[in-house]
Amino acid sequence: MTYRKINFILLVILTVCILSGVSYFSVSSVNKIFPKIKSLILTHYYFHKFSFNDDEYISENQKKLDVLHYDLSFDLFPGQKYFKASAQITGIILDHSITSLDLNFHDNFEIKAVYLNDLATIYQNSGTSFSIPLENNITDTFRIKIIYNGTPKRVGLEGFVFGERNGYSLVYTLSEPNYASSWFPCNDIPNDKSLIDMRITNDSSKVSVSNGRLINILTNDDRKTYHWKTYYPVSTYLVALYSADYEEFSEEYTSLDGNLTMPVNYYVLPDKLEKSKVDFSEHTDILKVFAKLFGEYPFIKEKYGVAEFLWTMGAMENQTITGVSSGLIGGKKFFNDYLIHELAHHWWGNAVGPDTWKDIWLNEGFSTYSEALYFEVKHGKEALQSTMKKKYFRRFSGTLSDPEPNIFSSTVYNKGGWVLHMLRWEVGDSSFFKILKNFFETYKYSNASTNDFIEVAQNISGKNLDDFFHQWLDYEGEIKVKFNWSVVQNAAGYKTEIFIEQDQENPEHYSFPLETIFQLVNGNQIRKIYYINSKETNINIETEDKIESVLLDPDGWLLGTFREEFSSK
Ligand SMILES: [Zn+2]
Repeated sequence: MTYRKINFILLVILTVCILSGVSYFSVSSVNKIFPKIKSLILTHYYFHKFSFNDDEYISENQKKLDVLHYDLSFDLFPGQKYFKASAQITGIILDHSITSLDLNFHDNFEIKAVYLNDLATIYQNSGTSFSIPLENNITDTFRIKIIYNGTPKRVGLEGFVFGERNGYSLVYTLSEPNYASSWFPCNDIPNDKSLIDMRITNDSSKVSVSNGRLINILTNDDRKTYHWKTYYPVSTYLVALYSADYEEFSEEYTSLDGNLTMPVNYYVLPDKLEKSKVDFSEHTDILKVFAKLFGEYPFIKEKYGVAEFLWTMGAMENQTITGVSSGLIGGKKFFNDYLIHELAHHWWGNAVGPDTWKDIWLNEGFSTYSEALYFEVKHGKEALQSTMKKKYFRRFSGTLSDPEPNIFSSTVYNKGGWVLHMLRWEVGDSSFFKILKNFFETYKYSNASTNDFIEVAQNISGKNLDDFFHQWLDYEGEIKVKFNWSVVQNAAGYKTEIFIEQDQENPEHYSFPLETIFQLVNGNQIRKIYYINSKETNINIETEDKIESVLLDPDGWLLGTFREEFSSK
């Protein structure tokens, strides 16, 4: 997921616009009027705190189920903001001590019937939980069918929305992290992945889209049913439904080995068609770059798709069908980084899912760093450095190992990205990219925890990375170094001594390789890397010519500040 980041400057502009009578401040008007303010905008998240309590939402019994398949049908009536639905859930009971089958399902629907293994059954539906008592005779496999209708509640970031823009109808969903249950009954735990069959029925003028591959379109009088099916498992929060007055266009992506092709499909409302053709034009390039860096696109037997939706804050990586806000489609590729980020999620978050929501930096930090990697491949090292610089906020609060209450904080996204950048510096490029490939290959179509990633990183690099991950995942903040240096002339030339002190509060000291540039008066440079692993460090260097300046971490590999204090030269 990426969401709009607004800082003080934009708030001032917004205020001016509101005061001067501009009632709607769209991103496209930002594009037109202020083409260069984006880097200023992208300096601070302006976003409500997002929190939830997993323990209240997920019962112990739910963890003892493994859902294999959801067969979902939605008959949409956007005019009435109403649907008729059915959900058939097939799964396995992993632990027979449970006395009820528990799922998540909001209690605001009219439930017409509930079946367990084809027999009508009693149930309880209260708050966000749905429970069927278990008789003794249940076999390993269960099949629950729930027939229901109603109007879904708006919950979380969006949930299920019957929306409209410029007179066009647009129905869509955004469920992350735990709001899929606001529109279908499910075991809403990210590591219980399942296959999906989705049938969406709407007026025949509407195009309906979901995860996976389109199996068929059936017409019945003035109604059309689109049947979508996945061949790879999906986490419930990534299950998506879109149905709108979409125009479609598509491209083709060929796998790196040349053996497979897959459609890349785009769905936008008619007034965005031309603009989206410009904005979306890099997708096949991005697919290629990431396939080379991480391994082949993991859903190649399905598709990649992008559908316009109306979440004004940003974009969402619903599996194989990313939702992108209308406001981000301006025809000037102004929000290319969002599109890159959502596509990167298909490796990080979708194929390799988070084990729990505490592991969210494996989604967001990885996808954020992938943006920088893409720019590096396209435009070189400087693009990598400048992208990472933009993602360095000096107020990373909270830790990556325990990001709650705000699992969508800048710490999760940007510090998470920086941890990968620093890991790359710590282990070197060839190990780093092997780590990414191996991690992807090992955990694709499944889920991984932070510890799983650490284990892969250690195995591949052959390094003990306990301290590295401990200092970056378990502490707030970043390196704060102050340094000074002095030069003494001697018979051989000059002796320069640098005194480095870490003065952040916690941890007492970070350990890191520190690149240092010594600029000599004769115009030459000496570059050296020192491994810093104490609060105070003295470095000595002897040179024939005099050193006139000292630069620490010149290429920006470290999340830290390096402040030069008075130096006697
Ligand atoms: Zn994201």
